[in-house]
Amino acid sequence: MNAQITIALSKGRIFQETLPLLAAAGIVPADDPETSRKLILDTNQSDVKLVIIRATDTPTYVQYGAADLGVAGKDVLLEHGGEGLYEPLDLCIARCRLMVAGDPDHRPRLSRPRIATKYMNTTRRWFADQGRQVEVIKLYGSMELAPLVGLADYIVDVVDTGNTLKANGLAPLEHIADISSRLIVNKAAMKMKHARIKTIIARMAAAVGA
Ligand code: AMP
Repeated sequence: MNAQITIALSKGRIFQETLPLLAAAGIVPADDPETSRKLILDTNQSDVKLVIIRATDTPTYVQYGAADLGVAGKDVLLEHGGEGLYEPLDLCIARCRLMVAGDPDHRPRLSRPRIATKYMNTTRRWFADQGRQVEVIKLYGSMELAPLVGLADYIVDVVDTGNTLKANGLAPLEHIADISSRLIVNKAAMKMKHARIKTIIARMAAAVGA
């Protein structure tokens, strides 16, 4: 009997854009997570199931082996740190940039500029690596609001078209990283289920290339 393979995905853009790549690996979900309330989805392959989780939880599920494989944004992986994971494949989907943004005319407070973000670790690292003293404060969403109401001098967030920044009188200021979704693999699973996982990676890689 084949070993069971569990793949962690988040709803929305990652799920939709991963579907064709999974199909190339011969994996088709039995349910649509947008309409089903199920958190574990069967697939056409009896040995493959999908778990539907929050995007920020994907590296944790894969790190601890609750899922063998997962798809996570590089922004989420940078923030997580990547412990216990291999990152064998850039899926080239959900592309954007992680940026420092703000009002270009704003004069930040002199002591320690305040940065609002949901990317606490990545933001601390970015400024610390340059010897810049900042205060980083955690938000869970609508980062663009923080500079408008004086909560923060700048934000760190992912930017795609830049329209959201522009609509709020903000602009991208510093480029931290190019972001896209990556296939991640639990390190132990890569050894224990090597043949099956290698085949899935190779088929998805071929689909990305095509
Ligand atoms: P934008 O196209 O720059 O106006 O982006 C619209 C909103 O979607 C912003 O609030 C971004 O934070 C968010 N966003 C853009 N691209 C991505 C992505 N690839 N993954 C997650 N969030 C994104």
